[in-house]
Amino acid sequence: MSAASKTMICPKCGATMSRHAEKLIQGPTPKEARQAELGLGGIVLEMHSCPACGANASRLAM
Ligand SMILES: [Zn+2]
Repeated sequence: MSAASKTMICPKCGATMSRHAEKLIQGPTPKEARQAELGLGGIVLEMHSCPACGANASRLAM
C-alpha cells in the first residue's frame, strides 16, 4: 500500500472512490493497537464511498 496515494479503488467496479469522512477510533482492537504503537496517538479510519456503484469501504489512515 502506498502512503503517497490517497485514492482508493472500488473493489466491486474499479471506480475511484471518494473519501467522505474520517473518524477517530477509541479503544482499538489489538491489531489496531499495533498500528497505534507506530507513533499515532489514536486510530483514524477513512471512510470511502463509490460514486459509481455505491459501495462503502474503510481503511486505516496512515
Ligand atoms: Zn464501485
